[in-house]
Amino acid sequence: MITIKPFEFNYFSENCYLLHDETKEAVLIDCGACRKEEEDELIRYIEENDLTLKRLLCTHLHLDHIFGNDFIYKKYGLKPEAHRTDVEKLPSPAEQARLFGLKTAMQPIKVAHYIVGNEIITFGDSELIALLVPGHSPGSLAFYNKKERFVISGDALFCGSIGRTDLWGGDQDVLIAAINDKLFSLPDETVVYPGHGPTTSIIEEKFNNPYL
Ligand SMILES: [Zn+2]
Ligand SMILES: [Zn+2]
Repeated sequence: MITIKPFEFNYFSENCYLLHDETKEAVLIDCGACRKEEEDELIRYIEENDLTLKRLLCTHLHLDHIFGNDFIYKKYGLKPEAHRTDVEKLPSPAEQARLFGLKTAMQPIKVAHYIVGNEIITFGDSELIALLVPGHSPGSLAFYNKKERFVISGDALFCGSIGRTDLWGGDQDVLIAAINDKLFSLPDETVVYPGHGPTTSIIEEKFNNPYL
């Protein structure tokens, strides 16, 4: 049984998710922690639950989802894992910060492993399947757990909306096609944990999402 702990981080109200199972092994998805209080909140949860953080996964490499990569590397020695296309096509974190008019002291941490579509990602006794859902960014991934029927959707699919497509390499037609193909093919009852905003489900979005 996987426990999903959500955190809401940084100026963009980004959802970071910490997943763990009964083995106490954990994966962190999209660590947007950028303030000291946010880092402390995450550390506290990990320590109080006696977890061992095994991997740092990125749905995509927009700044709001990677603010905390530097902190995670320094604290836990883990480097991020992401799709290669985002590494190659997106500006550096410093350049993204500059374009958003933000100041950040974060050091860019090199992606240690390129996740490919349909890759099985394991931790403890659990596994996630990486689904390639480009369009919001060219290398966006979602992480699906078949057994417990949930998907961490990054910024591809939100409750009642979809990701913006005006950033680097974004494409609305590609995004809509990817959602239809990769996410709407999941079982209707699949719970969706998006990169911003509230949790939803595949059936809910099939019927109520005005973009789809
Ligand atoms: Zn994004
Ligand atoms: Zn985002």
